[in-house]
Amino acid sequence: MNTATPAGNRDPAVPAPLARPERCDRCGAGALVRVTLATGGELHFCGHHARMHAARLLEIGAGLRSAL
Ligand SMILES: [Zn+2]
Repeated sequence: MNTATPAGNRDPAVPAPLARPERCDRCGAGALVRVTLATGGELHFCGHHARMHAARLLEIGAGLRSAL
């Protein structure tokens, strides 16, 4: 008899609710990307606006990473 815990039956993977649900600074949708500006500022964008501004943000040295 195999007593090992099946891989699919470990800790219930309940996603913790975000402590601070960030919103896109442009449209108010849930933010997917957090942008750290070279100046120290921070912006948040939904997927749509992140894609729209990514090239420009990278150009000015901003750091983009997932907000999730
Ligand atoms: Zn947006």
